[in-house]
Order: sequence, then C-alpha cells, then structure tokens
Amino acid sequence: MRDVVVVGGSIAALTAVETLRMEEFDGRITVLSDEDLPPYTRVPLSKGVLAGRESADDVVLAPLSDEVDLHLRTPATGLDTANRTVLTPAGPVGYDGLIIATGARARRIGTVNQAERVLRTYDDGLRLRDHLDRAASVLVVGGGFLGMEVASTARALGRDVTVVDLAPPLDRLLGTAVGGHVRTVAAQAGVRFVLTHGGVRLLGTPFPTAVETADGQRLEADLIVSAVGDVPNVEWLAGSGLPVAGGVLVDERCRVSPHVVAAGDVAVFATGDGALARIPNWTNAVEQARAAAKTLLHGDDAPVYTPSRYAWTEQFGLDVKMVGSADPQGEPAVLDGSLDAGSALLAWPDAGAPRTVVAVNHPTPPAKLKRLLAKAPAPTTTGAAA
Ligand SMILES: Cc1cc2nc3c(=O)[nH]c(=O)nc-3n(C[C@H](O)[C@H](O)[C@H](O)COP(=O)(O)OP(=O)(O)OC[C@H]3O[C@@H](n4cnc5c(N)ncnc54)[C@H](O)[C@@H]3O)c2cc1C
Repeated sequence: MRDVVVVGGSIAALTAVETLRMEEFDGRITVLSDEDLPPYTRVPLSKGVLAGRESADDVVLAPLSDEVDLHLRTPATGLDTANRTVLTPAGPVGYDGLIIATGARARRIGTVNQAERVLRTYDDGLRLRDHLDRAASVLVVGGGFLGMEVASTARALGRDVTVVDLAPPLDRLLGTAVGGHVRTVAAQAGVRFVLTHGGVRLLGTPFPTAVETADGQRLEADLIVSAVGDVPNVEWLAGSGLPVAGGVLVDERCRVSPHVVAAGDVAVFATGDGALARIPNWTNAVEQARAAAKTLLHGDDAPVYTPSRYAWTEQFGLDVKMVGSADPQGEPAVLDGSLDAGSALLAWPDAGAPRTVVAVNHPTPPAKLKRLLAKAPAPTTTGAAA
C-alpha cells in the first residue's frame, strides 16, 4: 500500500494519520477536509470558546507533519470504490487505502427559513458567543451533555437560562442519581428546566425567538440554541455501494469494505443484540481511529476494536467522568465519597462486577476508572448515592 487517503479533518482523521506513521507506514498520506481550520478539538467549544476564554490558537491540535498532504476546504463529494478514487471539486484523488473520518454535524429541527443556532464547528462557537453577548435570556433545546454545557456556560455569564427536553436532562446518559444531582446543582445556580411530552417547534424567522412545546407551552428567549443530537456525514458516500445505515457500517476491526475503514462519529457498528450503535465522543474517535488505521495496514492481524466507553463532561462546576454503558439503571453503589458531600465514586453493578462507573468531582483518573470497570469486585456497599 503506497497511497492512503483520509477523508475528514478532525480528531479521528488526525489520530489515524499519527497511527499510520507510528506503524511505520512510509507511503503518501493525503487528508481531505472541508473545514477552513486545520484539525481542532470541539471539546472547548461549549466551554472555554463559548465563554470567550479560548480562541482558535487554543483549539487547534498538534499540526500534521510536513510529510502529510493536508487539503483544507476540500470536501469529498463522491466515492468510486471500483477505481479507488475519492471525488472532490478540485479533481479525483486516488487511493490504495481509504480512512473515512467525516464525523457528524448538528441535527436541526428548524425550517429552511430559520437561522437555527447550533454548536458543532469553531465558527458556530464564535457566532454563538457573539449572540450570547447580546442576549439576556437563553433557551437550550435538548439537555444532553452538549445542551447542559451550553446552559452552564451561559448561566456562568449571567444569562437567564432555561433547558427544555423530553425527559429529565442527563438521566438517560448518567442514570437518575447522577443526572438528578447535576440538575440540582444547575437549578441551584439558577437554571430552569421544562419538560415537554413531545417535540418542540421553533418559532420566529430568521432567528427563532420562541419555542412551542407539544403540550402547548410557549417559551420565549433572546437566544435559542438547539442541542438535539448529531447526524453522521455520509451523503458523499451515496451510490458508492458502501453500507450506510445511520452512519458507515464497520465490522469489529473498523473495516467497511476491502481497502476502506472508518472511525469516529461517522462509524456505526452492530451491537450484540442486533441493534446498530455509534459512540459519538472524543475517546471513541481517538481509540477507533487507531484501530482503523491498524486494520488498514495489517488486515486480520490487527486487533479487534473494543471501545473503552469512557466519556466526560464539565458543567456547573462538576467534573463528571464515566466509563461503561450509558443509561445505567437503578441505584448505584457508593465506592467512595457521596454526592451530597460534592465528590463521589459510584458503580452500577451487573452480574457481580461494575457495569458502569461514574466519578463526580472525584480524583480517580480515567485509567483507574477503566480498570475499576474491568476488574473491581462487586462493591459491598449498596444503596442510593447519599
Ligand atoms: C461543542 C462540543 C463539545 C464536545 N465536548 C465533548 C466532551 O467534553 N467530551 C467528549 O468526549 N466529547 C465531546 N464532544 C464530541 C467530540 O468532539 C466528537 O465525538 C469528536 O469531535 C468526533 O471526532 P470525529 O473526528 O469523528 O468527527 P468530527 O469532529 O465531526 O470531524 C469530522 C471532520 O470531517 C469533516 N468532513 C465532514 N464531511 C466531509 C467531507 N465530505 N469531506 C471532507 N471533510 C469532511 C468535518 O468538517 C470535520 O472536520 C463535543 C462535541 C461538540 C460539538
């Protein structure tokens, strides 16, 4: 293999390139990115960038080496697998091996006439920051990690903040004990939560100025931010013959088809129970990109990819680290500390070993959390997190 093309310009693409070189691939690497900026991290966009503390210099990741051919503002528009060619407006780019790392974009719920505010790119962050400067009240639609981080930053800047969601924010991700704790801290900071029993409709053009909930409530705000999930960037693969089903379908080694692998937010895989799933977070993008690059080089000699399932969020002064399955059910065992005391290490056991471990403002480092999940004996202390 002499020519590898990586499509995508963010953390999965960057990690795949680094891994190819670490595995001593000395052929040509071409990276095609549709962005203006070289690979950068999205993680601070809802935190330091939105707060106005961080700029482009702070988010751009370590530069790619000179031996990598990076083409910015160059979207892949099609793929011809028979001739191993990626199509771009600047002309076709041939490959021996292809890494798909086109990630995802923000899901939108507005109409084509609405300038819906979302947060996915650095430019989104700058725009939102600008709107935030001129807003007294902010309504966040969607209370997942992203929506709650936006709410946290807006509240810290003194804005009047409301979060609207179909279910109590964060319960689905962190379980009711930790989700409830974060909401309590957020409410004490002044955030208002509104639950709706159906979707919301954005009202106002071009910028939405209100939402109408399915149960007839009308909520107004100077700034409305949609944080309602993401959509994998797969349109450029239409007609390529690659398996696309809510993402690019990868096997246990991140392979899509011969000579093609995929990683990061764009990749979807079959779970044991026959469902399809993505893991759209930073750690998965890094780990899966490493695995995908190794598969491209070593085929079946590369290890099977096993996600570590580590995720984190920072909001309302809380540092929440999680390893294991999202949506832990029932009450956790308390391994150390307590939520009331402000620092806790919690585990949701399953068949004698923790299935999910969550640290809230607790010093346990991520590597130890992963070891706890893999090896720790069943906790002896049971009952609700105090
Ligand atoms: C505001 C925000 C905060 C976040 N905070 C956290 C956090 O605290 N912790 C955490 O674990 N995760 C966080 N995440 C999620 C994390 O950033 C993503 O999981 C990660 O960026 C995924 O990386 P990726 O490379 O797979 O995809 P992406 O980051 O989506 O990158 C895909 C790249 O491909 C480019 N591209 C798309 N289509 C094409 C095309 N056709 N041709 C060429 N290029 C294309 C895109 O422009 C982009 O540069 C956050 C995400 C956001 C938006």
